[in-house]
Amino acid sequence: MRRLVLFDIDGTLLSAGGVSARALEAALVETFGTAGPSSGYDYSGKTDPQIVRELMREAGFDDRAIEERRPLALERYRGRLAEWLGAEDVRQKPGVLELLAALEHEPGVELGLLTGNLEPCARLKLEPIGANRFFAFGAFGSDDEDRYRLVPVALARAREATGIAFEGREAVIVGDSVHDVLCGRGVGVRAVAVATGKTAAAALAGAGPDALVSDFSDTASGLRAILG
Ligand SMILES: [Mg+2]
Repeated sequence: MRRLVLFDIDGTLLSAGGVSARALEAALVETFGTAGPSSGYDYSGKTDPQIVRELMREAGFDDRAIEERRPLALERYRGRLAEWLGAEDVRQKPGVLELLAALEHEPGVELGLLTGNLEPCARLKLEPIGANRFFAFGAFGSDDEDRYRLVPVALARAREATGIAFEGREAVIVGDSVHDVLCGRGVGVRAVAVATGKTAAAALAGAGPDALVSDFSDTASGLRAILG
């Protein structure tokens, strides 16, 4: 069976060592005068535009004010991240480069991204671990604020890039949050949860993924979880 395997980034492929949260906080303070309740906020599975909306709502801004200033806040965030993110801040999660290399050689498998990051930020984070080369296309937080609407975007991008019209049931989403597990369910996407992010394995299991792994240090079992 042909497969479109879509990877989340933060908590799944890598950790950016808290630099993106600091960069976003700085951009919010610069743009809105406050970062809102960012220290207690759960970023897992959220898109960057959604994070801005939720934090600024909590800070008392209405949606119109948020939407007016959000493009500037996100542009400032991208700039800060480009400035502040050092190669030493980015740590790949166990076994992911070996897993990607193995998937790349599987017949019938195409690789893509499905991430809440703005596309330029996704590329900045993947660069230090040399993972951009695996992902010619993807769906990003810059495409839609709602992660659940990124699944059709990813299918369309895959079609543009590969010429293959993948259906939902031919796709696999690999991610570390409950939202990664749930976002493709309506169209039959296989969900593989990996407990290398902030969400505990038990909470991931509660969302009912098709497979749940503690990490990808064992490439063979990672391949089995993903390809079914
Ligand atoms: Mg994640």
